[in-house]
Amino acid sequence: MSKPFSVIRGSASKSWASSVGARRTFATSRCLHATWGFVGLGRMGFPMAKNLRAKIPKSDKLIIHDVNPAVTGQFAEEHAGQTIQVAEAVREISEQAETIITVLPEPHHVQNVLRAMLKPPTLLKIGPCKPRLFIDCSTIDPKNSRAASNAVHSSGQGKFIDAPMSGGVVGASAGTLTFMIGASNDMVKPVSDVLLMMGKRVLHMGEQGAGLKGKLANNYLLGLNNIATCEAMNMGIKWGLDPKKLAELINTSTGRCWPSEVNNPVPYVVQNSPASRGYDGGFGTSLMRKDMKLALQAAHESGAASVMGHEALSVYDLVETDDNCKGKDFSVVYRFLGGKE
Ligand code: NAD
Repeated sequence: MSKPFSVIRGSASKSWASSVGARRTFATSRCLHATWGFVGLGRMGFPMAKNLRAKIPKSDKLIIHDVNPAVTGQFAEEHAGQTIQVAEAVREISEQAETIITVLPEPHHVQNVLRAMLKPPTLLKIGPCKPRLFIDCSTIDPKNSRAASNAVHSSGQGKFIDAPMSGGVVGASAGTLTFMIGASNDMVKPVSDVLLMMGKRVLHMGEQGAGLKGKLANNYLLGLNNIATCEAMNMGIKWGLDPKKLAELINTSTGRCWPSEVNNPVPYVVQNSPASRGYDGGFGTSLMRKDMKLALQAAHESGAASVMGHEALSVYDLVETDDNCKGKDFSVVYRFLGGKE
């Protein structure tokens, strides 16, 4: 049994160096330098791969793959002279890399990429070093993550860990992400050593899938809090209250939450919030919608009641069809409600 909850913090360099050293002592000559794989260089993956490349030894190879050749091309250009390889097919990565990180949009992307990496099931015969580690940082549902994990483990081709993250693009660029992992106890240290090159904190939530369950529970609550904050601010302002005074009251009272305090949806209540710059940047409504859907699906599968989630999801659905709100930070729900800006 894993401990119910543990936090690993800090700088990974020392522990990683020792773990790489340990692996290399039993490795054959072709394993003297480690090979890393990174799949999905989007808004999150690109800066994460950048931080990874900066922290691993110069002689280690990083192989990257994305269906969009523009991003892999840009990455290779920005890292000219460093040991980078662009893989045309994702199978090239799984044949060569010992540690493979995936940062993909949706469950079906993760399934397809894993399938392409694992079939034919000959990785351990043709690969360089073992054990091969698959770390999936995508936000997907626990059921699909479990299927991916089963595909890796049942074919004996490595270990699969779910490691969704929070901290957004800003955290990915600054290397300050928090990862929530689902892994057996013996995998916590090696996986944390890898993740702490791209983030500051790793929360071990339990066995495989537990990282995603924690992530979805948190984002479900965030999605509801955001709508509730937009409604409360809107009604208070309509009643004639001053927005800043109302926010101050909420933030020193029982209604306080991250959307009221940090990401307040009313422009200029919080100076650097997305609302204060036309709702640009921040956490997109489409991502909130996706996470709400995944949480509701997982809640349904486990028989957990979700009274408010469906209503919240329909709000985010409608926001995405509104030309004045589409593609904006999720606090744009305030604008969608007709809030005064
Ligand atoms: P994104 O859409 O910007 O990037 C995804 C990348 O994956 C793209 O470059 C795309 O071309 C690539 N891709 C898609 N299918 C592929 C395939 N089959 N093979 C190879 N590459 C493929 O998404 P993002 O914002 O970077 O988010 C990635 C994941 O991280 C999502 O699951 C998201 O929910 C999660 N996440 C995002 C944020 C955020 O603030 N953006 C925060 C926390 C978690």
